[in-house]
Amino acid sequence: MLQGLMMDYPLTMTHFLERARRYHHDVEIVTKQPDGSLHRYTYGDAYRRVCRLANALTRLGAQPGDRIGSLAWNHYQHFELYFAVPCYGAVMHTLNLRLAPEQLAYVINHAEDRFIFADASLTPMLEAIQPHLKSVERYIIINAPPNFQTALPNVLHYEDILRDEREAFDFPQLDERAAAGLCYTSGTTGNPKGALYSHRSQFIHTIAAGAGDALSLSSTDTVIAVVPMFHANAWALPYLSASLGFKFVLPGPHLRPEALAQLIQDEKVTVAAGVPTLWIGMYQAIKAHGFDVSSLRALIVGGAAFPKNWIEAYEKELGIPVVHAWGMTEMSPMGTSSGTLVARTDLSIDERIAIKTHQGYAPAGVEMRIVGDDGKELPWDGQSVGEIQVRGPWIVGAYYKDDSAAAQFTPDGWFRTGDVATIDPKGLLTITDRTKDLIKSGGEWISSVALENVIMSHPKVLEAAVIAVPNEKWSERPLALIVPRSADDRPTPEELQDLIAAHCAKFWIPDEFRLIESIPKTSVGKFDKKTLRQMYAEGKL
Ligand code: ADP
Repeated sequence: MLQGLMMDYPLTMTHFLERARRYHHDVEIVTKQPDGSLHRYTYGDAYRRVCRLANALTRLGAQPGDRIGSLAWNHYQHFELYFAVPCYGAVMHTLNLRLAPEQLAYVINHAEDRFIFADASLTPMLEAIQPHLKSVERYIIINAPPNFQTALPNVLHYEDILRDEREAFDFPQLDERAAAGLCYTSGTTGNPKGALYSHRSQFIHTIAAGAGDALSLSSTDTVIAVVPMFHANAWALPYLSASLGFKFVLPGPHLRPEALAQLIQDEKVTVAAGVPTLWIGMYQAIKAHGFDVSSLRALIVGGAAFPKNWIEAYEKELGIPVVHAWGMTEMSPMGTSSGTLVARTDLSIDERIAIKTHQGYAPAGVEMRIVGDDGKELPWDGQSVGEIQVRGPWIVGAYYKDDSAAAQFTPDGWFRTGDVATIDPKGLLTITDRTKDLIKSGGEWISSVALENVIMSHPKVLEAAVIAVPNEKWSERPLALIVPRSADDRPTPEELQDLIAAHCAKFWIPDEFRLIESIPKTSVGKFDKKTLRQMYAEGKL
């Protein structure tokens, strides 16, 4: 190696925490509390409480590398944990509060969490599984109301453990390769699998995710994290907030569309991030109640495809640019985004919307390729459909203590995402489906996502999910499940068939359209097609 190289400076979360103290100490973090009141404090206040929390962790006997769980909504205490735990040298394990009890017990035991910080309102979930939890020594309760009772053993209260601690802490010099965070996928097949993030991976991911062509955030923004803090690092927003110093708004448990629109209006939020179902709900709330959300300069949508009609509704009717992003827990989660296009003024609105219906471009740091069934790489021609494989500094290299999914990693070092996609010559990614949701009819693939997008463009349709159902002749056929916008004005099968015929191959047209009241959602708010398939199999649709 040549002498005289740059410093070997460790890339750790402590750097972002120190930025919050030095640069953003007077910028606000606003939380909507369980009782609906707003809690306001600054990054400076947060820093001092993070120090108290780190001192409390010392007193509790936390060791470097310990996994520390959080079962909590998005709020300032969760934000404090997001920094105190990794900067202390322990591992922040965010627990998905919508997991089934067996899965929650599985991930806590698998991670061997020593302490769990839990919202008082969520303790019944832990009480139900506590006899099965093998590693947890302490439960620390956040936001306990007066007279709070719990059957959990070894309980402490968050404010109690902070109260007498010092407001300074000598954070250790950490190895950038030390683990900082742990997040399990929601386990659509088999047990949930853990993605273990390092300080280095989180650091590089944060820098890349905030950049102009990705999420394009800055200190001039007010950002609301509607995406839960247990869902893939809340898309890096807590780390971005401390790094960039935007005003940060956290909705607590108040995720109803009206409550969100109200909070966006009151706090003059400029950027909001969450999954499509949220924004479909909020659009209706805005239409019904006339909330003023004109402060929004970008709506970041990811986690599932955002259909064109909804992008149009936001961009054309409400004047709010959409940033459509694709990613996954295993990718920290940033994969691609259409962020660039928010600023491209040389394109007409229709041109921009047309591009945003795709999932976007990968930032520097993510390498992509598409691979066919025969294992051969496919061309970037916008036509060839194959599995998307990725590699890069913030992409999972193996699952945490789990070899059962070793097949998801290729011998030449790429991660198989399980998503099926095309890439055009300029690198624009289009997700056509998840491998497990594709419909194979007569030997040909049908994209459930593409069908859903077309069906949801019908003015009488609110939501649509398409699943494969067994068929003797074709092996599988698509079944469309539809939630009408109004119970009195339902779309007819003929209308839907005509619409689909205008956009897709004829054999794609579902044989049947069934109207249902609502589409079941997954633990992170996406259409739950696994449950739909199961309901169909059990004759419950
Ligand atoms: P879960 O597996 O519980 O859904 P993730 O949030 O990690 O948890 O899900 C990642 C998956 O979500 C991706 O592999 C992809 O299938 C889907 N996804 C994410 N963003 C998009 C998007 N913009 N368009 C289509 N699918 C998406």
